[in-house]
Formats: sequence, C-alpha cells, structure tokens
Amino acid sequence: MVSATDTSALSDLSGNIALVTGASRGIGAAVARRLAAAGARVAVHYNSARDAADSVVAELQGEAHEAFSADLSVPDACRDLAESVVDRMGAIDILVNNAGIFELHEITELDFEGWQMAWERTLQTNLIGPANLTYVVARHMAERGGGRIINVSSRGAFRGEPQAPAYGASKAGLNSFSQSMAQALAPHNIFVGVVAPGFIETDMAASHLEGASGDAIRAQSPLGRVGQPDEIARIVEFLAGDGIGFATGCIVDANGASYLRT
Ligand code: NAD
Repeated sequence: MVSATDTSALSDLSGNIALVTGASRGIGAAVARRLAAAGARVAVHYNSARDAADSVVAELQGEAHEAFSADLSVPDACRDLAESVVDRMGAIDILVNNAGIFELHEITELDFEGWQMAWERTLQTNLIGPANLTYVVARHMAERGGGRIINVSSRGAFRGEPQAPAYGASKAGLNSFSQSMAQALAPHNIFVGVVAPGFIETDMAASHLEGASGDAIRAQSPLGRVGQPDEIARIVEFLAGDGIGFATGCIVDANGASYLRT
C-alpha cells in the first residue's frame, strides 16, 4: 500500500539533470528532494535565500547537486540562470517552473497605482518569468534531443481568485502557455505537464491557514485538510519520468477534491 510518507521513487531519473525554481523552501524544496531521490542531479534555484538553498542541497540524496540564484522577474536573469546551470552541471533535462508569488490585491481596497504594481509583479514572476526561462531551456533541450517541463499552476486558475485576481490570471496564463508549449515542443521530443495544487501547507499559505480562516480552508476538501508539499512533489516526479510523453499538455489537479472542474 502507498502511504502519504512512502519514500519509494515513482520514476527512475538517474542520469537526468533537473532545474527546480524556487527550491529553497516549500513545494520547490519538496520537488528537489523527490527528484534527487529518484536519481536526478538537481539545480536548486533560489532568489535570495542562499542559506536555505544550501541546506536543501546538503540534504538531497545523491551527489553533485548545486544552488543557483536568480530573480526570475528579470528577463536577463532567466537566461543567465539557464546558461549557468548548463555550464556548471552540463545540461538541463527537466525544468520545473515552480517559483511564484501570491499577493492579496482586492479591487475595492487598493489605489490605482497599487493595483498596477500588483499586476505587474505577479505576472512578471508567475507567467513571464517561466515563459522566459522556458524559451532558453527549451532551445537547449531541443538541441539535446528532448526534455520535460513541468509547471506549477494553481486551483485558482479555474476557481477564480477574488482577492488576488492577478494570481488567478497568472496561473490561467501559465496553463495556456503550457498547453501551447506542449504542442509547439512535441516535435522536439519535449513534453510539458502542469500540476494545479489547491491549498498546500507552505510559507506562502501559512497566514491563511491560521485560526478560523484556516478551518474554513481545510473544510473545502472532503479530506478535511490541506495538502503537503510532498504530495505535489510526487506528481512532479511522475510527470518528469520517462514514458508519460503521450500525456503532454495535461493539467493534473491536486486539491483534495475541493474544486472539481468538468
Ligand atoms: P513559497 O512562497 O514557499 O515558495 C515560492 C518560491 O518562489 C520561494 O522560494 C521564492 O523565493 C520563489 N520566488 C518568488 N519570487 C521569485 C522571483 N522573483 N525570482 C525567483 N524566485 C522567486 O510558496 P509555495 O507554496 O512553495 O509555492 C510554490 C508554487 O506553488 C508557486 O508557484 C505557487 O503559486 C504554487 N501554489 C502554491 C499553493 C499553496 O497553497 N502553497 C497553492 C497553489 C499553487
């Protein structure tokens, strides 16, 4: 029986090099752990939390993992990140676009300038950053004969985010981008998958999971709880494996049946 704490690998990723963005904590760190446990060498990307990224690198199974920093809201930094990983680790076989931000910016609460800033920051980080990184990495993968790209989206893309509309739009855009790339890159043997989590217990969600609002959020799922980072990491590991190519373009919901789209 598979338990929530099962540590057996779903895929054999030996010989693969994976770049995981936003991997110094939360879902990204869990993904780095799973991919390393499956045999991949992992480039642990971080924005500014160098010590946290180094700690993730130190605890990963296997050898020759490395930490890389970049602010993914800056286009040139996306290109430099991909080039540094290829220079130092030799290649990128798997790209996991996980880094993202969630900011409350209610339409009835913010002034116009604050509204614009929230849209700009969120789209730049959650959508344009992954698009720019994908541009550079996909060209490298095509030259190597293939690869896998997994994008971390959100339930909010489908359900709406009334208090964070730029976030919902950024993730809906990421879904659309992923499906466009699944079609554009399939002839290059590059497969693109998406996981769309509901609430997951990480620093990003921490303030929302306290007190009565936390109880209400847990009650959204018939499981009566939110998800754990490793539950998302296992799906990423599966999508990163060989033999799932015909599922390219898929969006895997992981929200404890709190929101079921038809
Ligand atoms: P988190 O805040 O713990 O981690 C996000 C990571 O992204 C951080 O390491 C942060 O440094 C990095 N990041 C943010 N802006 C960046 C930038 N400009 N450049 C480089 N790195 C940057 O959050 P998490 O919960 O682990 O979220 C991971 C992904 O999962 C995000 O894309 C998020 O939208 C998505 N997600 C999370 C939840 C949830 O409930 N936690 C639900 C649905 C989707």
